[in-house]
Amino acid sequence: MSCPLCNSHRSKASWLGATIYREKRYDYRDCMDCGSIYLSVMPDEKVLTQMYGVEYQEFLSIESSHSGSSGIHDVIEHLSSLPHGLFIDYACGAGALLKEVANIGWEVIGIEFNSETAAKFGREQGLSIVCVADAVRLANKADVIHLGDVIEHLTDVNQQFPNILSLLKKGGTMIAQGPLEANRNFFHTVVKFVRRLRSNAVSSMAPYHVSLATSKGQLCFFERFGLREIEFRVFETAHPAPGSIVLKDFYYPRMVLLFFLRKFSQFVTSRFNNGRGNRYFYVGIKS
Ligand SMILES: [Zn+2]
Repeated sequence: MSCPLCNSHRSKASWLGATIYREKRYDYRDCMDCGSIYLSVMPDEKVLTQMYGVEYQEFLSIESSHSGSSGIHDVIEHLSSLPHGLFIDYACGAGALLKEVANIGWEVIGIEFNSETAAKFGREQGLSIVCVADAVRLANKADVIHLGDVIEHLTDVNQQFPNILSLLKKGGTMIAQGPLEANRNFFHTVVKFVRRLRSNAVSSMAPYHVSLATSKGQLCFFERFGLREIEFRVFETAHPAPGSIVLKDFYYPRMVLLFFLRKFSQFVTSRFNNGRGNRYFYVGIKS
């Protein structure tokens, strides 16, 4: 299997080890060209259906906490520099971003993977939300497409990403944001060191993120699908460390340790501006 980010076939067993989900083992591979990490075997349709069931609601509430309101703010700020048109949020969830974008005068449509989820959110929020299968009619219609924390979930990028891009007009704007979980900032280096001390690093986390990107891999990804870069900003957020701590948290030394480790890592990243944060904000044009 090739690297989902840069498409290279050169890889080796990863320091991240493996994860076992519902009795199936998923080994991680390190890309020898861009340094990103990915699953050697992708979850199949059956596993995806199980994974994105009830358990996923819990995962989403954790995940939304790391892009949060700043993610929405950055999108709104960029849109305010463009003429109004059709904005599509791919994997829009309950439509928090769609509402904000509609408020500044854009036509908005959301896309969700599951038809029942799309119908439910659309009805509840009074928004136009369609499922992936019905999105074909939107081909070449979007002026802007937004992908927030989506790419790391795609199990067949070489098939799925061109389909997403086909919704965008020629010259249209792709806005994407998400994690850079394989970037080598200070926090990452310490976590990697600790993980290596364990001889058999196997976790039991559901493999929601099938690829963990570096900045290099993520940029290569957008480039290889023909997007022309306008902006690529990397920064470091607290996740998976807590964003703040209060006095009672000192009963949980691991949490306190992670908090201070991240604070120090953020200081190092900002001080030396080495582009090794753990999230990115990207804007590109479809040529
Ligand atoms: Zn790669």
